[in-house]
Amino acid sequence: MGWQARRARSALGVSLFSLITISNCISNCSSQDLALGVGARSAEITTEIGPMKLSWARTIERCFNSNPLRSVVDSARAVSRALRNSRFSDEVRLSRRDWEIVFIDRVLATKHFPLDPDLGNHPGFMLPPNKIFILTDNITPDCGNRQIADDLLTQVLLHEMGHVIEYQLLGGRQSPIDRERSEGFAVWFEQYSSDFASDLPKGQVRGYYRELLSSVGANKITAGGFVADPVGYAKAGLKIETVVSRKGITGLMSVYDLIREQGLSYETAVEKAFSWSPTTFSRHVAECCRR
Ligand SMILES: [Zn+2]
Repeated sequence: MGWQARRARSALGVSLFSLITISNCISNCSSQDLALGVGARSAEITTEIGPMKLSWARTIERCFNSNPLRSVVDSARAVSRALRNSRFSDEVRLSRRDWEIVFIDRVLATKHFPLDPDLGNHPGFMLPPNKIFILTDNITPDCGNRQIADDLLTQVLLHEMGHVIEYQLLGGRQSPIDRERSEGFAVWFEQYSSDFASDLPKGQVRGYYRELLSSVGANKITAGGFVADPVGYAKAGLKIETVVSRKGITGLMSVYDLIREQGLSYETAVEKAFSWSPTTFSRHVAECCRR
């Protein structure tokens, strides 16, 4: 991934917590609320994970090899395969849901979400339960390499779809709010599901996060609180991946069962599910998955 894409990638996503506090149209914001300009396009497609309504401003097409439809279809197929080929709980593995995906530029984003101080850096975000907004200016800021832009768009879509899946695992609630867990799940899911995407080179997404983690010493990997920067995202994803690597997706589902049913933090749920003390969990994280 080139410098430009890395720069654009550096602030992927925002937390559910941010989203529920920033949005001025949280309950009913839809593509119909957003004037996408002359030549706006829309499409309704059927995918294996449910029907999707897409809308985008025609102006965004010039920076990608094709219109966004192709990336959405590939991402939806990858998510479907990822969910069905593993041990996700039935409620996410089998259920279909309605999706809405809107592609907007920075001008529209700041107009419709004026209260988010960081919005200018985010390439995408999700509004519960199932609305995804993609800020294409932040994926390809100067409209450079179209292949990099296409790859990054798919990667961002997988990440945001991961937020939708996690929201469902939490039982359709945002509580308990935990940005590190939320971004960690989306980062892990983005890597996991990218293995099922046809249009992304195998290992590219995982390699991106591995490289970020390679700059962090083992004794720092779990130190400090969550920081919403690229390394912080990578570290958050590693906490999820650590559970999956040792206990499988079945183990991760048991952790989410505890979070949903008992309102536990991620770390407390991990301790309860596997009898891992905080020290043990930190050691497992430090040992996990960095090559
Ligand atoms: Zn995110």
